[in-house]
Amino acid sequence: MYDLIIIGAGPAGITASVYAARKRINLLVITNDIGGQAALSGDIENYTGYQFISGPELAQKFEEHMRQYKIPVKENEEVVEVKKQGEKILVKTNKEEYEARSVIIASGKRSRELGVPGEKEFKNKGLTYCATCDGPLFSGKDVAVIGGGNSALDAALQLIKIAKRVYVINNTSGLGGDAIMRSKVEEAENVTILNNSKVTAILGEKMVKAIKINKDGQDETLSLEGVFVEAGLIPNSDFVKDVERNVWGEIKIDSRNQTSNAGIFAAGDVTHISEKQIIIAAGEGSKACLSAFKYLARHNFR
Ligand SMILES: Cc1cc2nc3c(=O)[nH]c(=O)nc-3n(C[C@H](O)[C@H](O)[C@H](O)COP(=O)(O)OP(=O)(O)OC[C@H]3O[C@@H](n4cnc5c(N)ncnc54)[C@H](O)[C@@H]3O)c2cc1C
Repeated sequence: MYDLIIIGAGPAGITASVYAARKRINLLVITNDIGGQAALSGDIENYTGYQFISGPELAQKFEEHMRQYKIPVKENEEVVEVKKQGEKILVKTNKEEYEARSVIIASGKRSRELGVPGEKEFKNKGLTYCATCDGPLFSGKDVAVIGGGNSALDAALQLIKIAKRVYVINNTSGLGGDAIMRSKVEEAENVTILNNSKVTAILGEKMVKAIKINKDGQDETLSLEGVFVEAGLIPNSDFVKDVERNVWGEIKIDSRNQTSNAGIFAAGDVTHISEKQIIIAAGEGSKACLSAFKYLARHNFR
């Protein structure tokens, strides 16, 4: 029986784990990967203390900090169910079952799929959800970024330096996201922004060869070799049924990161907090751990 299980090792989960280790809580971290979305972002210019750092570098620094405390981490393990049973919380993964007195859910978000014909067929055959991971494969090629928010801008900014031409396919009348990133994308010579445009199909043979779009009601086909889907994110919260969630599936928490079920805390992008950023997720992770610590003390678990 662990005092605390932390699910996820993105900025929220890693920060929670560092705080927990320093409180000498008997803990376990279970996670699919280390770094979460932070490891996927390109240039980070808004994490205090670093005027500039790449996503993979910041994720590595987070990991080094966590490893310094010799925190037990079950990596490449996916939580499939979290259930309260009396005062115990059962955490079931694709490999094992664990028990804890408290849990912090810091499982973040994942990319939303487009749901168009050809998407599944060409996944990893020219279609990808990660510009940081796969961008270099498209050197000198024509590519499309699907989306118009910060993630799409981040992907476009990475691809501008690699690809020949970058089409940004945005289904609203203008790009969203941060003004600084937007103007960098708009000013790039090898970018074509197509507003009011919706992707309707991904086409190809063995690999992607084109996409079909509908722009202002007209169908068009764009020949290209890479598709980067940046069409928003959905919370990884399906594995926990007995906590309150909002209409988007985000876990509802109070100001102390407590969910509707005592002993189950949540932090970061998976929650309904209004902004999704690395520094916010990290701060929320620390708060969630301190609340879990008080919960354990109040229930004489420590
Ligand atoms: C392309 C991109 C660029 C970005 N750029 C910036 C930026 O410049 N500045 C900024 O502040 N923010 C940026 N963000 C947002 C930022 O990365 C997130 O807000 C932050 O990473 C959220 O942290 P988190 O710990 O809540 O979740 P995540 O980072 O999503 O981490 C979730 C963790 O949970 C694990 N997990 C998920 N489900 C399970 C499960 N069932 N079982 C076990 N483990 C699970 C994952 O493997 C991961 O380790 C960017 C995001 C993206 C996608």
